[in-house]
Amino acid sequence: MLDVVELTRALVRFNTVNPPGNEQACAAFVAATLEAAGFDTAAYDSGAGRTTVVARLDGALVTPALCFTGHLDTVPIGAEAWRRDPFAGEIDAGAVHGRGASDMKGGVAALVVAAAHLARSPQRPSLVLAFTAGEETGCEGAFHLVRTTDALNDVGAILVAEPTANYPMVGHRGALWLELRVRGKSAHGSTPREGVSAIYRAANGLARLERLELSGSDPLLGASSLNVGTISGGSSVNVVPDLVTLGIDVRTLPEQASDDVRRRLAGAFEGDVEMETMLEVPGVLTPTDDPWVQLAFEVAAPLVGETPHARATAFFTDASALRQANGAPTVILGPGSPEMAHRPDESCSIARLEAAVEAYVELGRRWAEEIAPHARLGLRRSAAC
Ligand SMILES: [Zn+2]
Repeated sequence: MLDVVELTRALVRFNTVNPPGNEQACAAFVAATLEAAGFDTAAYDSGAGRTTVVARLDGALVTPALCFTGHLDTVPIGAEAWRRDPFAGEIDAGAVHGRGASDMKGGVAALVVAAAHLARSPQRPSLVLAFTAGEETGCEGAFHLVRTTDALNDVGAILVAEPTANYPMVGHRGALWLELRVRGKSAHGSTPREGVSAIYRAANGLARLERLELSGSDPLLGASSLNVGTISGGSSVNVVPDLVTLGIDVRTLPEQASDDVRRRLAGAFEGDVEMETMLEVPGVLTPTDDPWVQLAFEVAAPLVGETPHARATAFFTDASALRQANGAPTVILGPGSPEMAHRPDESCSIARLEAAVEAYVELGRRWAEEIAPHARLGLRRSAAC
């Protein structure tokens, strides 16, 4: 019998710090665990050692599949000292400790244990489990999966086990990260009028960027936002600078066209600028009245001590990529604490891990019984429209 605490500890002991990631051994371990529970598995590499694993088990009825998903990579340890070994998976004070315990190996473990339970249930749904590489650096494994396979095409609903302290979330903004290069013309520092300063050009543009209102606001997701996170330029104090490079992070709404955002950013600068996209993940928002969201609200209510209302996560998730295969309604619900993510001394509450397993099993059973048969009709209907 799989135990969610022991499985979380086992996953934490794999060092999948990204960069470089190196999810292969962790993915093989997850695949072997799911094969023992009756799943068929397949591995997809988005780079050397960058393995995403997909596990599948058909249900009793031919209906859309339910997708459970999480990422196997973690962010780095960081410069601050940890009080415990980040890769030991120690248990103390009712929590599993280590890098990734909350974000999100605890969530992955809870999904695997719940899937193994569901595999033994006659009322189980068709299940597709996707455990991805490279999420922390831009959903690389998830994008690789949807671009190169049809593994998720028959998915009718998605559950992402990112850390929400078991609160069901209905979406998040997307992200568009750009490198913007402003060119000038180099000259000797003693004769600046013979050159064109890229620094002055950039400074003038930046002043306009600070006042730029990106259109779009959503009552749930909030407004789109823009942050100039990095700047570098110039080569020497006595040379007119011919290049400034800016790193810009735009958080977008699901309907927002990224080409329009690029055009507006470029328009803040006089003359031409070069722009390179470093990351583009679309926003995600599932309507609150969707049956999958309503079921998640019902199942999670006793876990969070209130009737949940529609909320969004601050971070983006693999759902940005995975929904491109199927457009499926998505709920983000995981046992980790969002405030533990990306911090030193990360841990995950054991009580929340166990509660998440129960919630996932109930969600799986009730999806199969109450939603999946109608979801199939729903997909047909919308396809005909
Ligand atoms: Zn995460």
